[in-house]
Amino acid sequence: MTAMTETSAPGSHATLHARHRAVMPDWLTTYYQQPIEITHGEGRHVWDAEGNRYLDFFGGILTTMTAHALPEVTRAVSDQAARILHSSTLYLNRSAVELAERIARLSGIPDARVFFTTSGTEANDTALLLATTYTRSNQVLALRNSYHGRSFSAIGITGNTAWSPTSLSPLQTLYVHGGVRSRGPYAHLTDAEFTAACVADLEDVLGQANGSVAALIAEPIQGVGGFTTPPDGLLAAFREVLAPRGILWITDEVQTGWGRTGEHFWGWQAHARSGPPDILTFAKGIGNGLSMGGVVARADVMNCLTANSISTFGGSPVTTAGALANLTYLLEHDLQGNARRIGGLLAARLSSIAATSPLVREVRGRGLMLGVELVEPGTDEPSPRAAAAVLEAAREGGLLVGKGGREGNVLRIAPPLTLTVAEAEEGAGILEDALRTALAGLR
Ligand code: PLP
Repeated sequence: MTAMTETSAPGSHATLHARHRAVMPDWLTTYYQQPIEITHGEGRHVWDAEGNRYLDFFGGILTTMTAHALPEVTRAVSDQAARILHSSTLYLNRSAVELAERIARLSGIPDARVFFTTSGTEANDTALLLATTYTRSNQVLALRNSYHGRSFSAIGITGNTAWSPTSLSPLQTLYVHGGVRSRGPYAHLTDAEFTAACVADLEDVLGQANGSVAALIAEPIQGVGGFTTPPDGLLAAFREVLAPRGILWITDEVQTGWGRTGEHFWGWQAHARSGPPDILTFAKGIGNGLSMGGVVARADVMNCLTANSISTFGGSPVTTAGALANLTYLLEHDLQGNARRIGGLLAARLSSIAATSPLVREVRGRGLMLGVELVEPGTDEPSPRAAAAVLEAAREGGLLVGKGGREGNVLRIAPPLTLTVAEAEEGAGILEDALRTALAGLR
């Protein structure tokens, strides 16, 4: 299906990019020397405004959780849109209630309450509001290299300095180790030693904290940070230090939720020893591209806010109808199982490519959330230029992948969870060629 529109013309990207640059902020990140306009998608593929077709190995930006233009989601959205786009959060919304019931059950948090937002940032902002109000403390623990969004409070606690331009946060943030595994002082440690070192660091930081601490916020696998993957159980070990001190655990599942990591429905479940988190935040994939986020918390934590509150567009009829259809499809088709199976095959294939490429230092991640860390050829030095070159060459070959890491040197692979074996093989093949092309260009 290639719908040619009036924009389907050579040079259309350059023209639009010039207009984009003239009116959008300089700091708005785009990919590629010549950014592209995606006009439509189907399944795991998308098409650009110049008529090129791509296999989407980044699932939008981990937003297309099931598939592009999934008929079940499109139908739910258009049926709802035809009835009413928006009424008000002052009235009841049947699909929001049903979605909240499902998410509350799936969350693993006892007596859970769900609040819908329009983004991951707003979800984390709300989580911070809840945690600081509940504990009457404005000190927060976060992981080094983390990313939690772009509002004033979310940027303030973000540990990845490439994404946190301000230090004027209203919160006091204490950063602990645990975010970056493969580099730095703990790089040579075993899983058990790494966990012990991070726990010791946490205890040290808490010993120096000025008064009480509200919460630890952590991504179970860091997204923007380059899919850095801690040993299973690390966050549970943290929890055992935090819980006796009344410090809450916020799990940021914006990238790791809904079965993407294969083994588990939520990222926190790889750390489950000490039970569920107090607060869970989600966004991205639940809406399959619709702007939805949310917070799940124990009732006593959620209900600690006593003033009136509202989100005008959070949990709106169209987004909740689409998200409900998307979640139903995901569960009925066992896409978590697919993420585990296809993710395992893809990880093995990427590891064998890595073994022959002097650009690749490490393949990591879980399920269909896989990172490929790139270095200057044959060295240990992070190579953002290699990542940029691979992205360009992959796009030329018909594959879209993401990029991340503190130095921008990690390829991020997170396709829709319906990815097939043939598509995994096709994408890996294009990536292998792109690594070869990039290497030739760098030498
Ligand atoms: N938390 C994590 C882990 C993210 O990766 C992101 C976005 O990339 C956010 C929060 C912010 O979400 P949004 O861009 O929807 O505001």
